[in-house]
Amino acid sequence: ESVLDVDRLRADFPILQRPMNGRRLAFLDSAASAQKPQCVIDAERECYEQYYANIHRGVYQLSQRSTQAYEGVRRTVQRFINGADEREVVFVRGATEAINLVAQSFVRPRLEAGDEILITGMEHHANIVPWQMVAEATGARLVVAPVLDDGSLDLDGLRERVSERTGFISVVHVSNTLGTINPVEAIVDLAHQRDIPVLVDGAQSAPHMPVDVQAMGADFYVFSAHKTYGPSGSGVLWARLEHLEAMPPYQGGGDMIRTVSFEETTYAPPPQRFEAGTPNIAGVVAMGVGLEYIEAAGRDAIVAHEQSLLGYANERLAEIDGLRVIGTAPDKAGVISFVLDGAHPHDMGTILDMEGVAVRAGHHCTQPLMKRFGVAATVRASFGLYNDRDDIDALVDGLKRVREFFG
Ligand code: PMP
Repeated sequence: ESVLDVDRLRADFPILQRPMNGRRLAFLDSAASAQKPQCVIDAERECYEQYYANIHRGVYQLSQRSTQAYEGVRRTVQRFINGADEREVVFVRGATEAINLVAQSFVRPRLEAGDEILITGMEHHANIVPWQMVAEATGARLVVAPVLDDGSLDLDGLRERVSERTGFISVVHVSNTLGTINPVEAIVDLAHQRDIPVLVDGAQSAPHMPVDVQAMGADFYVFSAHKTYGPSGSGVLWARLEHLEAMPPYQGGGDMIRTVSFEETTYAPPPQRFEAGTPNIAGVVAMGVGLEYIEAAGRDAIVAHEQSLLGYANERLAEIDGLRVIGTAPDKAGVISFVLDGAHPHDMGTILDMEGVAVRAGHHCTQPLMKRFGVAATVRASFGLYNDRDDIDALVDGLKRVREFFG
């Protein structure tokens, strides 16, 4: 049983106290974006109210304070993912920007025509399109490892697709659509035997499980603050320092230079080299508070709680005739995608919304994966640390209404 005090945690989230259509809100869309605890909201407001100024530039106290608050979050992130050095932490807008940064700055210069970028069949569009852009620019080829019928990654299939030409591997840690937890350590091991660098898309793992980038062994790990109970518009690229040091800047501008003249510009060392322009100062500060919130709740307790909810949801969803869960891998996080005979996912989403149940309906930015399973869309219920069995019960009651409605 879970050791999270969910009632106490729920009380931290103002939005969960607000009724939805006259009912208790059952928010089951944290895979898209998580709700924010009061401490995160306060941190962002306090930054603007009490010590806001641009960072890295001012000699005055406000600027020094905001610089300290912003820079201090590097240590928080380093601890959160067990990085080796705070200089490995680059602040970006989110997972999408982090992947594009690696694609353009690290991978693109290393590839030649005929080289291969290996991804999996369960990637989010954010881990597909940037590689297609690099492939387009270099003449490299995108190679895709297959997904098994239960939604697991076909690890043998992936191994078979590693070739002499594989220049980079990018894999999702936890599928946002299926919940599948991928064996990223095994993937990194087989890649590193051939000196192939690996990016792990941690958008769905960072909020829900302990993450140790050193144990994982990956070269790059990325995530978004808005899914780790922080604000939207900030996120993290973690990379091995040796990689960052070898990478050219992604964008040029202020704050990423050492010296500038019209003849020649020299760049700041990482991570500043990758943070051109005024960053999302308050957003980064509040991201740090979101990560501390997760740490205080306890990563193992979060896993236990979300696994227990997953078991309960699977049990209860089995009561609904004609419901088919897509993605039944043995190793799964708190994400359940399903379809229901005779009911369109968008209609289900609308009916559930009237019952105060917020779920996602659609392709979840994974169109190739939808195609793999022969569906255009699914309904997805995904959990955060604030969900409880009442939320699952509300979902099941709502689905029974859908059943009645569609006969
Ligand atoms: N990868 C995965 C697995 C995701 O779930 C998401 C967000 N849905 C992203 C990447 C992109 O994250 P963002 O939109 O925050 O950049």
